[in-house]
Amino acid sequence: MTASATRLRHIAVVGASLAGTLVADTLRRNGYDGRITLLGAEPHAAYSRPALSKGVLAGTEEPGDIALQPLGGDIDQRLNTRVVATDLEARRLVLDDGDDLAFDGLAITTGARPRRLADLGAAEPGARETTFRDLDDALWLARELRGRCRVVIVGAGILGMELASACVDHGAEVTVIDRQPPLLGQLGEYLANLVAAAARRAGVRFVCHPSVRLRGETSPIVELGDGRQFEGDIVLSAVGCTPNVEWLAATGLPAGGGVQVDTRGRVRENIVAAGDVAAFPADGGHRRTPLWNSALEQARTAAAALLRGDAAPPLTPAGYFWTEQFGLTIKVCGKLPAAGTPAILDGTSGTSELLLQWRDERSATTAAAVNTRVPIGKLRALARES
Ligand SMILES: Cc1cc2nc3c(=O)[nH]c(=O)nc-3n(C[C@H](O)[C@H](O)[C@H](O)COP(=O)(O)OP(=O)(O)OC[C@H]3O[C@@H](n4cnc5c(N)ncnc54)[C@H](O)[C@@H]3O)c2cc1C
Repeated sequence: MTASATRLRHIAVVGASLAGTLVADTLRRNGYDGRITLLGAEPHAAYSRPALSKGVLAGTEEPGDIALQPLGGDIDQRLNTRVVATDLEARRLVLDDGDDLAFDGLAITTGARPRRLADLGAAEPGARETTFRDLDDALWLARELRGRCRVVIVGAGILGMELASACVDHGAEVTVIDRQPPLLGQLGEYLANLVAAAARRAGVRFVCHPSVRLRGETSPIVELGDGRQFEGDIVLSAVGCTPNVEWLAATGLPAGGGVQVDTRGRVRENIVAAGDVAAFPADGGHRRTPLWNSALEQARTAAAALLRGDAAPPLTPAGYFWTEQFGLTIKVCGKLPAAGTPAILDGTSGTSELLLQWRDERSATTAAAVNTRVPIGKLRALARES
């Protein structure tokens, strides 16, 4: 540990999910023996969020099955505690119970929350809009789906499509509405078509239209710009996520598109950010990457930066992502969306067990395994092959 870390007597970690718990754990594993306080707004200890739209909705996993590895008792965890403001100069946090907490080092890991149609001006005041982000949302939806129901999902990205898959598995009648074909913007044409075909076979109806408006306080209705109406017992919106940065409002940090950090996750000296809330340098600007593996590697990078400053290694993103929907388990390394037609390295076109590689003129850009067990290291190597 360097002098920088030994100066930090108390590190506060705000946000107690994947990124926050990993920052705390990495600090301890790397020998930091000062005080760590982990503050989280949710009442639950950290759990796997990806499992919510998969095992928990399917009913194959219980809340107890999806807990993240518990932290050591030498980390002071304060759940059900929201940080409402901070003064970075005075190095103090203000908590929602009125308490004040002083810190020397700070990790910002407050993640993101669902963007709502209402936030986009696409819902009438009071319209019944349901979003999906946390354990309580998942337990609620799993209960609702036990009765036969009609579900309208606005947003055909990864989350919208995973929700559609879980809903049809429960026997719901599912309509998915988006301005563009399902998953095209996230996965690229080849993989998007593969999933959309499986979704259609499962009975999902897709509607493509550029403008939607939600209305209805008890019976929600999605109305399209051309007058078509889709009534659901539940309308789920899955139209992206917004970083949780309101508690940083008085700091003057540019945080609307996420908290901007350097390649080591540093906001400024002894203050780092990681996970869905953080915008790392990318393509000449800063970009959030709200994915599990990104949160994981950013958290480790940021913890190392708190301990070792410039001597810590910068982030080298692996670019790994997975999804499970409509009987397809898709793992991807490299660039997404993947443009063009891939080479099939294993499997046969038209089947659902495939190992795929996309290339540009110079080298491979992306590799994907569909319903095929491939070690991540191999997939990564395939995505980088020259
Ligand atoms: C349903 C779902 C399915 C997903 N599936 C996949 C998948 O298949 N593959 C994949 O790669 N990624 C997936 N993801 C994305 C992945 O789960 C996230 O990238 C990851 O959880 C980010 O972790 P995080 O710790 O940065 O943020 P979060 O998990 O959002 O945690 C942030 C925590 O901070 C707390 N918090 C917020 N504000 C405050 C405050 N002011 N004070 C105190 N605490 C606060 C929040 O309550 C929350 O507990 C999925 C996400 C969701 C929602």
